[in-house]
Amino acid sequence: MLAKKVQSITPSPTFVINAKAKEMKNKGINIIDFGVGEPDFDTPSHIKEAAIQAIKEGFTRYTPVAGYPELQEAICYKLKKDNQLFYQPQEIVVSNGAKHSLSNAFAALLNPGDEVIIPAPYWVSYPEIVKINGGVPVILPASVKHNFKITADAIAAALTARTKAIIVNSPNNPTGQIYTRSELEEIADLAVNHNLYIISDEIYEKLIYGEQQHISIASLGEEIQARTIVINGVSKTYAMTGWRIGYTASPAHIAKLMSSLQSHATSNANSIAQRAALAAILGSQDCVEQMKAAFAKRRDYMVQKIKAIPKLTCIEPDGTFYLFVDVSNLFGHNYQGQVITDSLSFATLLLEKAQVALIPGTAFGAPDYVRFSYTLDLEQAQEGIERLEKFILQLN
Ligand code: PMP
Ligand code: GLU
Repeated sequence: MLAKKVQSITPSPTFVINAKAKEMKNKGINIIDFGVGEPDFDTPSHIKEAAIQAIKEGFTRYTPVAGYPELQEAICYKLKKDNQLFYQPQEIVVSNGAKHSLSNAFAALLNPGDEVIIPAPYWVSYPEIVKINGGVPVILPASVKHNFKITADAIAAALTARTKAIIVNSPNNPTGQIYTRSELEEIADLAVNHNLYIISDEIYEKLIYGEQQHISIASLGEEIQARTIVINGVSKTYAMTGWRIGYTASPAHIAKLMSSLQSHATSNANSIAQRAALAAILGSQDCVEQMKAAFAKRRDYMVQKIKAIPKLTCIEPDGTFYLFVDVSNLFGHNYQGQVITDSLSFATLLLEKAQVALIPGTAFGAPDYVRFSYTLDLEQAQEGIERLEKFILQLN
């Protein structure tokens, strides 16, 4: 019999929908793809040049497992400059994407049966990564009344003797909501008082559209920093999803465990991609501002359009490139006899009948919702919204 633990894991729904949409595209079907969360921009040219230069210079060998020292130093510089976080290079572990960093973090933290509190709506991979590492995901639904943010009181009510860690993801995938300083302070106090770890996934920190500021929970004091593993990477900020560079910042003893683990699993992250990440972090940040400005326009367009469609509701995302939309008013309606029972059947019908791809909220622990990723140009977004409107008008 093959491994029970792995058989209990479901494939990442974001990638499943992505594969289905790509398959349809390859067949010549014109798909409007609001599915996978991946910037549609090309990696900025100075970053690509740095990689080409690295190849030319023969920077093609193993690096130290946790990343080559200049990159670790650059990450420390970035964390200090952007996040008021003070780390030493030996506290940084560079990995093959933030997803890998999350895997390392849970592998380092969890003993069998340890519980991890995951506020819902959550990013698809958290529960599965916890399970892979022997932990038990404890899903804690956050209500739309609280802008989908979990309160310290709700966490306190869910604590058991086995609670080991809490995931904080701000800005949040899929809701786009951002935790304020005071909300984070309450969670930090609770974590310190109950001896819990925080996994703080900050991968969308640069994609914020309003006045709100990104605060890293680890910056709120020495005690909480000592209990936090910060997760970040270059995928979203610099349109570098395919390069696979993520990193953790954590106390040195945890970094050491993750590095040992990585030394037997993957060794260092790709040497050339590390040099590209160095250029991304130390180079001009104008490219980030340009991409953000494009996302902001699309966000405004999407919010305004979705709010105008009867039966759909959403709360405005303050960050990320996602819009999380309540489609429960459509449940019970049918499209040419095919009944919409939940967000999965809605997403499936919309893809088949209107060729619009999005991710059903079941994947994020919020079955009444669907996620739109506005990682496509405005023209395509307009076409997608038109198709959606037409589809909804045809429902009985
Ligand atoms: N965390 C969140 C919240 C994400 O949405 C993603 C998207 N891929 C990741 C982590 C992983 O990013 P990476 O591409 O660096 O593995
Ligand atoms: N994080 C992106 C998303 O949520 C990419 C897909 C993935 O990593 O699962 O769609």
